[in-house]
Amino acid sequence: MHVREVFAAVEDRAPAPSAVEALNHALTRTPTAHLLTREATAGFRSEATHPTTRVVEHALAALAADTVALLTGPDAVLLAACAAEPCNRYLLRTHARRHWCSTRCGDRVRAARSYARRNQRTA
Ligand SMILES: [Zn+2]
Repeated sequence: MHVREVFAAVEDRAPAPSAVEALNHALTRTPTAHLLTREATAGFRSEATHPTTRVVEHALAALAADTVALLTGPDAVLLAACAAEPCNRYLLRTHARRHWCSTRCGDRVRAARSYARRNQRTA
């Protein structure tokens, strides 16, 4: 899907218009609204009701809706690209010193720095 391309905005790059268009297409192809239902024993429930023949469209619409909510919501300012090459993931910068998507990426960068320092000293 075009979600990755839309996240280009995180890296101060304009996403391809076709990616935005594809996301909007997924949003409008099938309704994502949860409907109010009521059962005598369980009471009111909010649930997604969609025909089983449109499961894929519904899943894509839900993914697109979550993407829009993240990109336009209060956490959008926290979105960042992982600083560990060649990782291409995005993360929510939950604290100022967070630069990597995972401990694994952070460990890889620290190990590379250490290796470079060691090589510099021996050269
Ligand atoms: Zn990463």
